[in-house]
Amino acid sequence: MTRLLIVGGSDAGISAGLRARELAPDVEATLVVADAYPNYSICGIPYHLSGEVPDWHSLAHRSRADLEAAGLELLLCHTARHIDPAARKVTVTDPNGTEQALAYDTLVVATGATPFRPPITGLDRLRAAEGVHLLHTMDDTFAVADTLARRPAGRALIVGAGYIGMEMADALTSGAWRSPWSKPCPRCSPPSTPTSPPSVEAALAGQGVEVVTNTTVTEIRHTAHGLQVAGANGFARSAELV
Ligand SMILES: Cc1cc2nc3c(=O)[nH]c(=O)nc-3n(C[C@H](O)[C@H](O)[C@H](O)COP(=O)(O)OP(=O)(O)OC[C@H]3O[C@@H](n4cnc5c(N)ncnc54)[C@H](O)[C@@H]3O)c2cc1C
Repeated sequence: MTRLLIVGGSDAGISAGLRARELAPDVEATLVVADAYPNYSICGIPYHLSGEVPDWHSLAHRSRADLEAAGLELLLCHTARHIDPAARKVTVTDPNGTEQALAYDTLVVATGATPFRPPITGLDRLRAAEGVHLLHTMDDTFAVADTLARRPAGRALIVGAGYIGMEMADALTSGAWRSPWSKPCPRCSPPSTPTSPPSVEAALAGQGVEVVTNTTVTEIRHTAHGLQVAGANGFARSAELV
């Protein structure tokens, strides 16, 4: 029997495990997952934060029971630390730091990516407690939800207007947050992208979103009066959530 070890339990890891079991039902598939949320829809995070998907559990494509019924063994809240290709072993640790060595015949590394932290002064120090967030994992999601809940009204500044920035601008100015978080306006600040088509800007403006283009954010400071965000060409805004 082949021992398939998969590190990562999001889209890539789960797909690999399910497909392997489909092609070879006798494969013994184990997934090591750093967090407690296997097979969650990361793409759905903005829709949970908007209130359109009120229960975060609904973001799961499949429940843990579904995955186990499909023959996947899940080792949640375990982090892979070391691969020994010669011995075909992966060392993992649990939240207490206890080590365990897992043997494999075939290894799939499906650990995704980590958000890029642009060189913005202050970004390395400021965290969710100060209202500064990255958005990638379910834990990031809970942290943003906590900031929103702690400050039921305020200004949000979104750095970056790719699709995630746009989805979050929409999420914060529609649904449950429409009135409290739309005045004053959240702001999108794509650092160096071309000007958005007028129709997109107009639609966002209609929702109370100020779009600032061709502006590189250079500094975020936490002050007694909230977060102060500065950028090129004299850009300066204050916000409670970045
Ligand atoms: C807010 C947001 C919205 C998005 N919306 C869309 C969309 O609408 N459409 C679209 O196509 N894409 C969207 N994406 C992108 C999409 O979510 C990613 O492309 C996809 O999640 C990548 O899947 P992955 O399995 O490669 O990695 P990830 O989803 O990053 O998962 C990595 C997995 O590896 C685990 N892991 C990491 N390191 C270790 C370790 N050392 N040990 C054990 N486990 C580890 C993590 O716990 C996790 O389970 C969105 C992303 C975000 C952040």
